[in-house]
Formats: sequence, structure tokens, C-alpha cells
Amino acid sequence: MKSYTEYLWMNTPNRRDLINITDKVSQAVSKSNIKEGLALVSAMHITAGIIVNDDEPGFHRDLWKWLEQLAPYRKEYEHHRTGEDNGDAHLKNILVHHQVVVPITEGKLDLGPWQEIFYAEFDGCRRKRIIIKILGE
Ligand code: ZN
Repeated sequence: MKSYTEYLWMNTPNRRDLINITDKVSQAVSKSNIKEGLALVSAMHITAGIIVNDDEPGFHRDLWKWLEQLAPYRKEYEHHRTGEDNGDAHLKNILVHHQVVVPITEGKLDLGPWQEIFYAEFDGCRRKRIIIKILGE
């Protein structure tokens, strides 16, 4: 089995952001020269996540509203006793999860209709990493 690893650096200008990284993952798959296998895409942070979904602005607004309802930004989180103010970002990370696994078939990402890979930033404006780990033959 072959493996290939690549890191993507993110630094979003907004505290919360959704960035389509499908092309970057596809480029990593091409560089890996792996024809059949799996690509793990994982945010290496506890306040960011990776999702697979539609690149449609209305859905993105719905997603942010839903995340804000379930894990609203507020001052009263116990986590803020540490001096941080990102309690909501940790909870949003739990809701969307930190990583996805996507299939590779005949040397390309084998995503379904409308599926795109996104980096979901919940506490941005600083440098953060994503790992892409590709395994296969
Ligand atoms: Zn924190």
C-alpha cells in the first residue's frame, strides 16, 4: 500500500468561514499517484471542521443559522474561564466533526452529485492546518 501526505494552511479573514477545498484535495490525489484508495481530510484543530455538502449559498446560510441555534456564541461558557472566548467554536466542531474520508477511483476523487469538500472555520483569523492523508494503490 502507498501513502501520501499533504498539509494545507488556512488563514481565514473572517472568524467564521466556509472554504471549498475540493480542488486542493483533487490536486493532492493527482500528486499522490494513487489510483484506488481513500483520502482522509482532517482539520488539525478543535475549533474547525471538514464537511461534505452542497456549494450553494442558501444552504450555507441555513447551515450557519442551524449551527448558531445549536451552539450559539455567548459569554457564559465554562470554557471561557480559561480566558478564551471560543466555547461556541468547540461545540460547532463537535456538530460537524473534524474530518471526512472520501473515495478515490481510477485516480480521481469519487464524489457523488453536488458533493464538495469544505473547511469549516469557527475561530479563524489565524493560521491553521488541514492534513490530507491518502492511502491506497
Ligand atoms: Zn478554546
